[in-house]
Amino acid sequence: MMKTAVSTPIVKRLVLLGGGHSHLSVLMHLARKPLDGLEIVLITRDVHTPYSGALPGFIAGIYDHDDIHIDLRPLAHMAGAVLIQEEISNLDLENKRVICAKRPPIRFDILSLNIGSLPDATKIPGATEFAIGVKPMDVFLARWDEVKNSAVQALKRGESYSIAIVGGGPASVELAFSSQHAINWAAGIKKHTSSRLQIKIITADSQLMKFHNKRVKDFTRRELESRAVELYFDHRVEAFQANTIICEGLQSISADTIFYATGASIPQWPAQSGLATNDQGFIAVNTFLQTLSHPYVFACGDAASTEGHPRPKSGVYAVRQGMPLAKNIIRFATGKKLKPFVPQKNALALIYTGDRKAIASKNKRFFKGRWVWAWKHKIDMDFMKKYRELPPVKSTLKLASGLVDKETEETLKQHAIRCAGCGAKVGSSILNNVISNLDTVKHDDIVVSGSVIEDASLIKISAKRTLVQTVDYFRAFINDPWLFARIATNHCLGDIYAMGAQPHSALAIASVPFAAQKIMHETLSELMAGCVDVLNEHDTALAGGHSNEALELGFGLNVNGFARPDQLLSKSGLMVGDELILCKPLGTGTLLAADMRLKAKGRWMLAAFDQMLISSREAAECFRQHQANACTDITGFGLAGHLLEMINPDNAAVELNLGSLPVMDGVLDCISQKIFSSLHSDNSLAMNSIYNTEAFRKQPRFELLFDPQTAGGLLGSVPAEQVQSCLQTLKANGYAQACSIGRVVDNNGSNAQIALI
Ligand SMILES: Cc1cc2nc3c(=O)[nH]c(=O)nc-3n(C[C@H](O)[C@H](O)[C@H](O)COP(=O)(O)OP(=O)(O)OC[C@H]3O[C@@H](n4cnc5c(N)ncnc54)[C@H](O)[C@@H]3O)c2cc1C
Repeated sequence: MMKTAVSTPIVKRLVLLGGGHSHLSVLMHLARKPLDGLEIVLITRDVHTPYSGALPGFIAGIYDHDDIHIDLRPLAHMAGAVLIQEEISNLDLENKRVICAKRPPIRFDILSLNIGSLPDATKIPGATEFAIGVKPMDVFLARWDEVKNSAVQALKRGESYSIAIVGGGPASVELAFSSQHAINWAAGIKKHTSSRLQIKIITADSQLMKFHNKRVKDFTRRELESRAVELYFDHRVEAFQANTIICEGLQSISADTIFYATGASIPQWPAQSGLATNDQGFIAVNTFLQTLSHPYVFACGDAASTEGHPRPKSGVYAVRQGMPLAKNIIRFATGKKLKPFVPQKNALALIYTGDRKAIASKNKRFFKGRWVWAWKHKIDMDFMKKYRELPPVKSTLKLASGLVDKETEETLKQHAIRCAGCGAKVGSSILNNVISNLDTVKHDDIVVSGSVIEDASLIKISAKRTLVQTVDYFRAFINDPWLFARIATNHCLGDIYAMGAQPHSALAIASVPFAAQKIMHETLSELMAGCVDVLNEHDTALAGGHSNEALELGFGLNVNGFARPDQLLSKSGLMVGDELILCKPLGTGTLLAADMRLKAKGRWMLAAFDQMLISSREAAECFRQHQANACTDITGFGLAGHLLEMINPDNAAVELNLGSLPVMDGVLDCISQKIFSSLHSDNSLAMNSIYNTEAFRKQPRFELLFDPQTAGGLLGSVPAEQVQSCLQTLKANGYAQACSIGRVVDNNGSNAQIALI
């Protein structure tokens, strides 16, 4: 009897909006205890979500970027969540849709908002033009480096530099201590009081740290004054101008840089979308963390306020809400009774005071010193570690014991995590073997270029017109159907451009996992919207297609294009003396493999997706204008495999400059960890055609030769005298990493096909 594959149908969609502290717990909980049938989508502005508690340590130079950011990509992956990077500013609550600027709306059954807050000084006139808010933190961090450099340079020239910080709470105080420490230290100044760096704190209150006990307030003030920090009390800021703070009824205060770290506020769009808010504009929730207006919308962290239990805006509260939120979302999704959560009344605050010291404040308690910093450091880093050091992805191999020997079983186990995208192609060794044994019908109008198998079939329509056809299909290499379809479509069009043709129309084949009808409808809609977006950009009609229900998401296209015969580009035709130009950096295979193992950083993947979305249209046009003698696109068989298809060993060989190969961010890191695509080992058979591998095997870029590319760049063989102009044109058209990677040489009668230099 035929065995039936079983998959769990998706029946509901949970959208987590914002990658804040509470949603970290929700993702972790759902990763550990998946709710079968629930699809999770995380939409967030920052894929590396900043942890503000560690910001002062970063400013003081103790931590680096990755120490203070949680990478949401591996975490989302572990929870099986689709990760979408978007900044949202609108909700359609009636139709349960999140409105996106860059892509079609995303429908939800349950929505949870954990979008943090912004300093309320954002609303003061001139704030965005003339001052820098401490949040969004990544905007602040991007500006901080500039400020620090300007200040250090000024001090080194013997000039003064001033920083004014608006706000009298812990964030301002920490910023004052840490920025003073960092700048003076970098300028080689040991004593703050003898520095020409002036730090000013401006607050509308008559004291600092108004929500803390007297000992905390007194100590902070004394400590700042002893470091010559100027304190301006009862100064309500009315406006910001260039290098000037205008205060109500008082003199203005000047500074080279103005920061603000004032009380919290949230943007207006949640209220404008119809969510109930409290007097201060925060999303009003009940003790179940459900919004008062929409039971299927939850909210937490700084952006929300629990009715009857207002609390200061602090990450501690957001963290504490995480688990109750996760459990209530699950209860809501499964029709169970929700449980109330009342936030604790007081939270411990650990505040950095520079010089690796900190103070602790809770109720009437106050402690200070190096040990408090060590304590804070441990708490912060333990928190980060929980989300950074994720358990390894286990490869499960279901094989009855005794069917194969232990060694074979071990090899199969190592390869049990199978790649998708171009890493899921059948290896060229198997493919060539099968194809060469087929006895196929021949037609006179099918154009063949000698023994070379081209990227597309060529059918002669008339003396002036050739039909160019390609077909390709992928198992999804990312779980976001829209982005997946965009990349897959761009990849499929690449074969047409590699032939020098213009795409005309396409037929699609879509495989959609079994799910509730509305979910299948959404998945297919997202898939097709992504596909059509890209086809439309290329003036290519979607002429039809087929869909089927499958165990996993998959998508492919048959693309038709046309070209005049004299315009066609071919793989064959390398001329001795040509240089080889590669348009895009390499590494998608190893990156996608790392992504599956939760080892790829979010920013690497975002940058890789951007590369995969760059069309080959302009590159093909550029190669044609620069009289390229041959062209192909680098895809599943990797650079070496595709290059070998271009070389006719009877008359040419290639010298490949390994060190010049352009590479995507993070790729060498993944290769050094020996993370390879499942197609890599088959592609590595191309090594047999490389003349001098021994001397180069240990070089980090060596393995790149065999890395399968999804939507990889075109490789063109361009006459030497055209190379400079060709590269200039490519770069002007967005192929920033295009470069010459080698040249075609006479093989002098030897069998060598590729020599590394
Ligand atoms: C300098 C400084 C130091 C601090 N130190 C501490 C401390 O030591 N301890 C402490 O407890 N608190 C501290 N805080 C307060 C703390 O930063 C906040 O209370 C906490 O970050 C709030 O967490 P959250 O989960 O609500 O949101 P956040 O952690 O701010 O996360 C918000 C998330 O939502 C995303 N997002 C925002 N808007 C959108 C949108 N429109 N569309 C999509 N995604 C969006 C963001 O990308 C981010 O992922 C400090 C604050 C500052 C400024």
